[in-house]
Amino acid sequence: MKVAVLAGDGIGAEIIAQATRVIRKLGVSLEMQEAPVGGAGYEAAGDPLPAATLKLAKEADAVLFGAVGDPRYDTLERAKRPEQAILGLRKELGLFANLRPAQVHAELAGASALKAEIVAGLDILIVRELTGDIYFGQPRGIREVGGTREGFDTMRYSEPEIRRIARVAFEAARKRAKRVCSVDKANVLETSQLWREVVSDESKNYKDVELSHMYVDNCAMQLVRAPKQFDVIVTGNLFGDILSDEASMLTGSIGMLPSASLDERGKGLYEPIHGSAPDIAGKGIANPLAAILSAAMMLRYSLRAPEAAVRVEKAVAKVLQSGLRTADICTPGTRKVGTQEMGNAVVAAL
Ligand code: NAD
Repeated sequence: MKVAVLAGDGIGAEIIAQATRVIRKLGVSLEMQEAPVGGAGYEAAGDPLPAATLKLAKEADAVLFGAVGDPRYDTLERAKRPEQAILGLRKELGLFANLRPAQVHAELAGASALKAEIVAGLDILIVRELTGDIYFGQPRGIREVGGTREGFDTMRYSEPEIRRIARVAFEAARKRAKRVCSVDKANVLETSQLWREVVSDESKNYKDVELSHMYVDNCAMQLVRAPKQFDVIVTGNLFGDILSDEASMLTGSIGMLPSASLDERGKGLYEPIHGSAPDIAGKGIANPLAAILSAAMMLRYSLRAPEAAVRVEKAVAKVLQSGLRTADICTPGTRKVGTQEMGNAVVAAL
């Protein structure tokens, strides 16, 4: 099997280097091929998603992605900005379903911004639609109306798009606590009214799964008030973007959370949910565990190596139990280590 390794910008290269070391240590037979993306793609080929990188990603069985983005490129026209690469890959590879688990490792309950008892044992899965919504809707732009500039975007979801993401959520719930909470803003948005109608209709095919609905503003509140009430949350692209970052803080660090973006056949792009963290790039202090856990998800969902995935997850748990922490999750009584040393520890645990 073949993995396209796209490290990207900022801390991307630092954390992906540790994830690929971990994969090599497993001794799984697979080919890993690297290519530039994001700002690195722009430097190499004048395009955040160079044609050769896209070709490699399309041919591969899975893509291991670091992060893209750098303030140096913020003044470029939109199409050339690093962040366009990830939007382009999602679209080109048909990655419509984003799975973001948020689990709290017992050892890290104290690192959460919330009280330990509110988050201890937390295990939620956010299923976010990725290829539709206001991020892709047309028309969009900045125009002049009566001598004043206005910006506009279009929120749009078709019935088949809603139906297929609902199915992913119901299927995932069947393997968990069998509860789906669909999040929308149906009291204000037409798009959400259709979303609610279609998700409710699709739930008739999943009578064993309990469906509830919640407005996004309430969900944002419930996630910090009583997050353990949720099992699977399914929502659109925009709301999912925000809620999954909020959920990440329940776990103590954005540096701990992996994600998978899947197409209809199980091919996927695997990436930590954090960005390129320009504020700490090059300092050797980034947490590589989200990238390493993303590699574990890749082994499970796309590379048909579930035992290897479990080995990686157990190795990470063992390292946390031993008291090693990167700066972002460090609490009194634990030992602070850098990116490389954390990678070394996971490799040693394997
Ligand atoms: P960010 O996730 O890069 O950083 C947010 C905060 O979390 C920063 O303080 C950072 O230091 C910290 N952080 C993130 N990952 C960490 C890790 N592994 N270990 C320790 N600390 C970590 O988000 P941002 O600052 O809003 O964005 C920075 C750049 O990343 C922007 O250019 C943005 O567009 C881009 N971005 C890219 C992706 C992606 O590639 N999928 C996602 C989000 C943001």
